[in-house]
Amino acid sequence: PVPVITVDGPSGAGKGTISHMLAEHLGWHLLDSGALYRVTGQACLIEGVSWDDHPAVTEVARHLDVRFQVDEHGEVRVAYKGQDVSAAIRTEEGGRGASTVAAIPSVRDALLARQRDFLQPPGLVADGRDMGTVVFPAAPLKFFLTASAAERAERRYKQLISKGGSVSLARLLKDIEERDERDSTRTVSPLVPAKDAIVIDSTATPIEEVFGQVLQAVTE
Ligand code: C5P
Repeated sequence: PVPVITVDGPSGAGKGTISHMLAEHLGWHLLDSGALYRVTGQACLIEGVSWDDHPAVTEVARHLDVRFQVDEHGEVRVAYKGQDVSAAIRTEEGGRGASTVAAIPSVRDALLARQRDFLQPPGLVADGRDMGTVVFPAAPLKFFLTASAAERAERRYKQLISKGGSVSLARLLKDIEERDERDSTRTVSPLVPAKDAIVIDSTATPIEEVFGQVLQAVTE
């Protein structure tokens, strides 16, 4: 079988960075499952579908015309129906839309096969919330990255400021706490570590060190 390594955890715990580094290091494919939920939320805005209209959102997810492409700077560009939505899906509203539509069971079902399609030779690093519990439960190696909400808000703050944005740290913390609450209390695929996941708390650990721990487990 084609090997898969899952990397789950709350937003801002460093999953994206670690998954990227790991996929690059191994020369494997990368699944950014959060982007699929983000694009679904964005597609609803574009199609004029309310995030609360569950049947309509499910239809949008089922027929999601999404493309991931690496541009000349090595950045992943995301297109919906050929329209570049890379920036739009990364806003706070994009995150809210993603976590709202991600709480709808039929939307998660609609995106399941699409996520599994990413499993192609030579291997896959799957980044998300339920990669190790639902999408790839048989993965031989699973990580769960976490960090305190305050630390995650701070990282997000620095990231946004470095891109020239203007945000309030308090507002970001509130958003993160609300999203954590929604993600961990929803009835389908709540955010919990798989029983066999290696849990890494990065609150006080630099990302390079976290990557070192991940690599060590991978090569063991
Ligand atoms: O990882 P990212 O912040 O891009 O994910 C955005 C939202 O999508 C999360 O807050 C979560 O609600 C949802 N999500 C999910 N399952 C995944 C990945 C993301 O429910 N596997």
